[in-house]
Formats: sequence, C-alpha cells, structure tokens
Amino acid sequence: MKNKKLGYFSTIIFLFKYMDKMRIQYFLFYIGWLFQTIVTIITPIIFGLMINQVVYYNDLNMFLKIGAVFFYITLFGVVLYYLIYEMYGIIWNKYNRNFRIEMFSKLQNLTAIEMDQIEYGDTINMIQFWSIEAVNFIVRNIVHNINNILLIIVCLGIILRIDVVLGLVTLVFVPISVYASFIGGKDIRKNSDLNKEKFSNYVAWLFERINSFVDLRLNSAVKSTIVEMDDKLGEIYDINAKIAVHNTVVNEIIANLKNIILVIQYFLLAYLSLEKNLTIGTITVMLSFFAILSKALSDIAQNYMDAQQRISVIDRIKTFLERDTINTNNDNLEKLEKIDTIELKNCKFGYDENLVVCDVNLKIERGEKVAIVGPSGCGKSTLLNLILGLYKPSKGSVLINGQKMDSYDIKSFYNRVGAVFQNIVLFEGTIMNNLLMGSNVSEKKVVNSCKYSALDSVIAEMDKGLKTELTIGGQNISGGQRQRIGIARAYLKSADVLIFDEATSALDKVNENVILDNLDKALNNRTCIMVTHRIENVNMCDRVIMLKDGKVIADASPDEIREQCDDYRKLFNLV
Ligand code: ADP
Ligand code: MG
Repeated sequence: MKNKKLGYFSTIIFLFKYMDKMRIQYFLFYIGWLFQTIVTIITPIIFGLMINQVVYYNDLNMFLKIGAVFFYITLFGVVLYYLIYEMYGIIWNKYNRNFRIEMFSKLQNLTAIEMDQIEYGDTINMIQFWSIEAVNFIVRNIVHNINNILLIIVCLGIILRIDVVLGLVTLVFVPISVYASFIGGKDIRKNSDLNKEKFSNYVAWLFERINSFVDLRLNSAVKSTIVEMDDKLGEIYDINAKIAVHNTVVNEIIANLKNIILVIQYFLLAYLSLEKNLTIGTITVMLSFFAILSKALSDIAQNYMDAQQRISVIDRIKTFLERDTINTNNDNLEKLEKIDTIELKNCKFGYDENLVVCDVNLKIERGEKVAIVGPSGCGKSTLLNLILGLYKPSKGSVLINGQKMDSYDIKSFYNRVGAVFQNIVLFEGTIMNNLLMGSNVSEKKVVNSCKYSALDSVIAEMDKGLKTELTIGGQNISGGQRQRIGIARAYLKSADVLIFDEATSALDKVNENVILDNLDKALNNRTCIMVTHRIENVNMCDRVIMLKDGKVIADASPDEIREQCDDYRKLFNLV
C-alpha cells in the first residue's frame, strides 16, 4: 500500500496541497520574515557605517542621520512583526481546521475493509494532535530554512567581497555542518519512524484498555495491564532518548566546528586588519557576519533535525489519506430514486483468503419480507454488509434495480435503505435527535414509529419523554431500549428497504411481540431483510434463506423450508 517514504521536499509538496485559500496569507507571512532577515543583514552594515562616521570623519551629524534611518527601519520591523503574527494565527487555525476536516472526511468515506483496520485511539491522535505537526512544519520548517539559506548566501558573498581567503575559509564550514546535520537527521528520522509506530500502537492499546476497564477488572487483568503499559512506555522512552542523543551529538559537533572556524576567522581578520588597514566599521561588520552565519548554519541543522521528526508523523498522515475510499466523487452518477429489486449474482467475499460468502445468488423483490438464518459465524452479517454496499464482493456483483450498485451515486443509495444492527449506535443528545438524525419528519410519523417499535412505553416512563438526554453512546439506557430507538429510527427513514441484523436480540418476548405485531404496518409494503435466531420472527416472513458456510442451502417459504431442510429444523430445534 505504501510506496515511497516522504523526504523533505516531497513533504512540502504534500502539505501545500492543503493550503487552499491561505496562499496569500502564507506569502505575507514569508515576506514579514524576509524583511526581518534583511534587517539582520543590514544592521551590522549600518552600525559599521555609523562607527566609521564618528571615528574617521568626525561627522556626528551623519552618524545621527544614519541612526535615524535605522530607527525607522526597526520601527517598520515592529509593525511587520504584527503582520507576521496575524498571518501566523490565520494559517495556524485555518490549516489545522482544513487538515482535520480532510482527515475526518476521509475517515467517513473509507471502505468498510479499511474501516475495520482503523485503530480508534491512533486515529483520534492523528486527527487532533499529529495534524499540528503538519502546521508546525509549514510555519517553522520552510520559511526559516529558506531565509537562513538566503542569510548564508548574502553573508558569504559579502565576506568573499571583503576578502577571498576569509570567504573561502568560511565557505568550507558550510558543507561540513550541512553534512553533519544530514547524517544526524537520517538517524533521527529512522528513530522517529520507529517511535511514531510504537506510540501509535500504544495509543490504540490505551484506548482499547480504557474502553474495557470493566472486563479488565472482572478478569483480574488490571495488574498485568499495568505491567504491559510500563513496558510500552519504556520502549517509547528508550527511542526518545536515542533521538535526544543524536540531536545533542550533532549540535555538539556543529558547535565545536563553529568554534574552530571562529578562531581561524578571528585570526585571519586580525592579520587582515593590520595588512589591509581595515576600518573599525569593516571589522565590526565582519565579526557580526561571522556570528550571523554560524547561527544560521546551526539553525538550519536544528531545523532539519526537527523537521525529520515531523516528517515521520506527516508520512503516517499521508498514508492514512491514501487509504481506499468509497466512490464519493460521483456527482455524475445516477441518483437512485427508489429501490425495487436487490440481486446478488455469483457473489464471493472473504476477509482474507478464506471465503465467507461463496457464490451466493439471490433476488429480493420490493415488498418482500425475507429472513436470513443460519448458525452463528456462517456469514449472515457479511451478506448484509454486501447488500448494504459496505463490502464489495471479490467476485460477482450486487445489482440494484438490475443495475450494478457502483453505477449509482452511493449517497442516494444510503438515502433509500435503513439498517438496524445488534449493537445500536446512539449519540449524545435527546432521544428525539437520535431518532431524527438531522432529518425533518412529521410528528405523526414520529408517534407511529415509536408505537411500532415498542418505544412508546419506554418514553412514557421518562419524565422528559422524547426530550430525555442520552449520554455518549446512549449508555444511560438499557440495551433493549437502545434497540427500540434504533428500530424507530429506521422506520422513520423514508427508505425502501429495511435491514435488521438481530435487531431485537436484547428485547423481552412481550416487547418483541409488539414489534412483530406492528411489523406490516411499519413496513407499509417496504422490503424487509432480517437476520434472526427466533422462529416467531422467521414465521412472520414470506421467505427464508438458509445459509451454511457462506452458501445458500435453502430458499423457500417458512412452511416449505421446514419440510425441505434438515439443517433448518436442527437450527430451530423443530421436529
Ligand atoms: P454471522 O453474522 O453469520 O454470525 P459473520 O458474517 O459475522 O457471521 O462472520 C462470518 C465469518 O467471517 C466468521 O467466521 C467471522 O469470524 C468472519 N469475520 C466477520 N467479520 C470479520 C472481520 N471484520 N474481519 C475478519 N473476519 C471476519
Ligand atoms: Mg452476525
């Protein structure tokens, strides 16, 4: 899946893709810093000129004039700083927002197979925290590097102009320190990649453990989990320590090199000032340029090493953004107005090399009530996921109204189906909001759906009725209550096909019977496909499809299948 590792320049290209509508701000941000760079260069030159005016020409007036010019330049610099921070704020906020939304939309459009591989903790971490490293790279690692390179070129140019030998000695220092930071950077990158890998794994692990603290406690696994946590943290710490060592070593090498070069430069400068009669002003300019140059070089080195750590993270984000998505760019595709028939033709599907659905052929007509039955693990849920387009068959095809599912705008398909799974997902908010999910439905429809799904009795017992607030995941109500909200929500949707996967498994017989009794009214001639383990539910249907090891072994009415199929009788304990 992964092709080439990101390098420094490919990272810039990758990040600039998400810079929409911020380019002007980024340009101004750069210009602001460029001005500061120019001030850094001209400051020593102006000071040199000023010193020469008083020392050699006794011209205090000129000294003050140049001083005044310098004052105005720095004043302008202060105003520009304001611009820089203004732009910084805009880029920081906009980029973070764009980038996070981009990642979240990607997540929403992942194929179901990709979604299965997503680790929640790691994904939250990536969207919320690692995105910051992308912005950091944009505002810290690009602008300053360009300006530092400019600084070095100009400083070298000026030194070379004043004296070639001095310039050449200084020039030698550049490739050596670039090389040192490049070598150090490589090791840092390698360790950063490893670190991010371990860290991702740790966050995903942590998320899973936090989610299952009851199970850990009940299985007496708290102590061993803490040991595991300590190991993981230890591994991450060790890698961080290695990165810190590399950082320090490179910085030390560069600092020592800097000192050696400085001594040589000072020596040469002292010699030159005697030999060539350099003015005090020129000597001051040279001394300042030595300092500016050596600072620029160590900044580039540090910047490069910091960038390596950021690139590790950005590389992971890039890999995430390259995951497979469902076809979302489908404005030109046909919109599905109504689902009449659903047909599976020679469908095969497996999560790995083992097939879970084998050569399934079936056609479901509008208005049919179909039960899908079979022992657990035989592929019922997988089959429903194929019908729902969440999984794509590896062979064969799913046809809607006789046409391949892919030929329709997938969003229009999801407008026409409703599905209720065993584990209902509810959101923080009122029950009403959980039923409507942002749609507009008449009050009469809400009342009827609540009645047909046996939810009305639940609501009647609550002080605030439909306005009762649910906590995150609907954890403040029971599994059976959650299932009833899920069913009512599906009934409310103006779908043509309703799919239930063991949707009443947590309900008592009384409430399940209420739902069964009202099923026809609720469906109102819509198609219904249900996976169920209860014979009463099966008997409500027009047709039963029996699966075994991913194959359809019987497809008939409840009465017929009971006659024909041994496996069916065994499954429901019928004689
Ligand atoms: P059923 O709903 O009939 O109980 P499923 O369709 O859920 O069965 O699962 C069928 C088979 O596919 C099982 O052997 C199960 O282990 C496997 N399976 C289900 N979901 C996944 C998944 N996300 N990744 C890998 N294997 C899976
Ligand atoms: Mg299942």
